Amino acid sequence: LTGCGRADEETPASGSDSSASGGAGGFEANSLIGVSLPQKTSENWVLAEQLFKDDLAKAGFKADVQFANGGVGEQQNQIQSMVTKGAKVIVVGAIDGAQLGTQVKAAKDAGATVIAYDRLLKNTDAVDYYVAYDNFKVGVLQGNALLEGMAAKKPSGPYNIELFAGSPDDANAQVFFDGAMSVLKPKIDDGTLKVTSGQTNFNQAVTQGWKAENAQKRMDTLLSASYSSAALDGVLSPNDTLARAIITSVKAAGKPVPVVTGQDSEVESVKSIMAGEQYSTINKDTRNLVKATIEMVQALQKGEKPTVNDEKSYDNGVKVVPANLLEPLIVTKANAKEAYANDPTLSKLTQ
Ligand code: BGC
Repeated sequence: LTGCGRADEETPASGSDSSASGGAGGFEANSLIGVSLPQKTSENWVLAEQLFKDDLAKAGFKADVQFANGGVGEQQNQIQSMVTKGAKVIVVGAIDGAQLGTQVKAAKDAGATVIAYDRLLKNTDAVDYYVAYDNFKVGVLQGNALLEGMAAKKPSGPYNIELFAGSPDDANAQVFFDGAMSVLKPKIDDGTLKVTSGQTNFNQAVTQGWKAENAQKRMDTLLSASYSSAALDGVLSPNDTLARAIITSVKAAGKPVPVVTGQDSEVESVKSIMAGEQYSTINKDTRNLVKATIEMVQALQKGEKPTVNDEKSYDNGVKVVPANLLEPLIVTKANAKEAYANDPTLSKLTQ
């Protein structure tokens, strides 16, 4: 039955169903649910794949869960093919949130509901819901952790810092950066923080493709250009993969490791935090995010309106997308044991 979905004969007739948008109507309990994930740029995506496969099946659905390692074109084809196979809900973790408009419109025209997962879909009205950890809050927590970590080493400023952001095609990258800058900008303005390179804009700070090698190269360049004599006190890193690349660069330059933030609670970073190297990460337990998404799917299946708790923050350029936002948690060495207590893998690292 894994073939080309002939078993399911319903025609997603165009235009005949006036209640095609998310909510009304419901659909059969064993319907096909499509999940299109981006590239494996961090561990959370790999974990999400397995959880979606297992838990959608446990909930009685047929699941089509795919990665788009080849890039945007592959993701576009993937979503189109999920539509053709008759998926009732399509969950999208976009590589580039602004380039899937045609495919999600096709999904809507076929009567499917579209859920943006973790990353917002931009410039389209063909997205019904958004489910994610509160991205702005992630940035705020990172900004605060950077200040707190530096203050613990050196009671007063000025502190020399550098800023890194994620990939500009990922809608989250700007939001993480804005959240962090809401904390850091006033301190830059009052002189407590000094961005020695002068690179304080998002566009100067971005890391294409969330690639470690790009962050490492940029850090190498910043160090040789601006830190031959100055000390580097802290680095805002948007996630763990990039944090480790930044730390690698600093060590290679023979400099002391500064306070470096992160996100995702990746195994290697939790080890680094416990060893006193990386300063912080964020816990965004993927199990809870997948669970919240599947709960949305179950509500839609029954013809009920899914739970949302934020109907104002996520304007995608065309509409404000109703969101279910989960709370991220800052983790440092001080609270790691408690934070990961119910995580079978990470709890072993904090003993
Ligand atoms: C996710 C982060 C992740 C990044 C790179 C973002 O959209 O929210 O958790 O670190 O993608 O994979």
